Amino acid sequence: MTPIIQMEQDLEKRSVNGAYIYFGAWVMIGIATDYHQGQPLLFWSIASILGVLGVTRLLAYKYSKKMMAFSHSLWHNLLVLNALGPALVFGFLFALTMAESEHSTLFIYLLMANLALISGGAVTYSPNRVLANYFLIVITVPALVTALVLPQERGVEAIMLAIYMVFTFFQVKLLNREYLERVEQRLQLERLARIDSLTGIYNRRFFDESLLLYWNSHLRSQSAIGLVLIDIDDFKAVNDSYGHPVGDQVIKSVAEIIKSSFKREADIVARIGGEEYAAIISEPNLGFIEKITKTICSRVSNAPIQTEEGKIDLTISIGAVHIIPNVKYTHGNFYKHADNCLYQAKEQGKNRSVIEAIL
Ligand code: GH3
Ligand code: MG
Ligand code: MG
Repeated sequence: MTPIIQMEQDLEKRSVNGAYIYFGAWVMIGIATDYHQGQPLLFWSIASILGVLGVTRLLAYKYSKKMMAFSHSLWHNLLVLNALGPALVFGFLFALTMAESEHSTLFIYLLMANLALISGGAVTYSPNRVLANYFLIVITVPALVTALVLPQERGVEAIMLAIYMVFTFFQVKLLNREYLERVEQRLQLERLARIDSLTGIYNRRFFDESLLLYWNSHLRSQSAIGLVLIDIDDFKAVNDSYGHPVGDQVIKSVAEIIKSSFKREADIVARIGGEEYAAIISEPNLGFIEKITKTICSRVSNAPIQTEEGKIDLTISIGAVHIIPNVKYTHGNFYKHADNCLYQAKEQGKNRSVIEAIL
């Protein structure tokens, strides 16, 4: 997942409570001050607008994945509408209570509500600094403009609001920086958790997870999947003759050869044991598996591995299975079958591949 998508999804999750907060705050203020009886038309109009925006926000959250798949920009625009719409309504309501005496009973309550919303919104939307700043602008600017138009009556409020807004801009900047650092750290940890530290290719844990996911997905789509297991021949002798560090260099170089032989992004190439590797291939045909295993075998055996102790001649053995998944066979059987092919390759004299296709 990229940091941008992570950020947008975090924003959506953080802001979902706004669906209740704006509507609830308005209804409570209105009923507590009897405003719903004094100004029923305005009260119910605003309640309806906030209600509709709240329901939109909840629906957007519920159907988030579907909507994102259908149109990412529609999903994004809805997120922006839900962030700025209610803030604009509260911004205008507060400005109205400043300007018109018939609405002034609400003034103190909306002042408190808006100050709380500004703080809450700054925290909520801080992952996206631009959105958080727009939020601040739409909720405060109507009141600031009103105060500028009526400086004799509302000068103090104007100064207070302006100070509070500037202060919150800086808070957003700080919160945004902290949030981005956290996301970067989280993504980095996720990357590290699936990478083998010696070779830089995927590790056993990621391989196991991927094998199950790929198996299930190919079972659903009834498309072919290939599993290739690779083991360095007589590797113990390399360790014994040259030492463990040189053995490590060899493991690394062989990983590079295998990784660079698979060109497609979807192919999962992993180190699954000391000197054992695996590749999961999506939708291969049998000919492709035959060709690539032959290529890898000859690339290793034809070019000695360069190490600090000189060149080392190596061979590898490969076991591979090609199958269209069916329910009678599990991903565990699939793995055992490929391992059995690898065993046969060793038994037959090593430096070769044994491939089976299951029909
Ligand atoms: P075969 O041809 O049957 O595969 O024989 P082999 O010697 O390659 O296989 P065996 O399983 O007997 O030995 C594997 C060796 O790999 C034993 C172990 O010490 C070594 N090994 C395992 N992990 C590492 C590692 O991370 N670094 C190094 N240098 N050696 C390792
Ligand atoms: Mg082995
Ligand atoms: Mg071996």
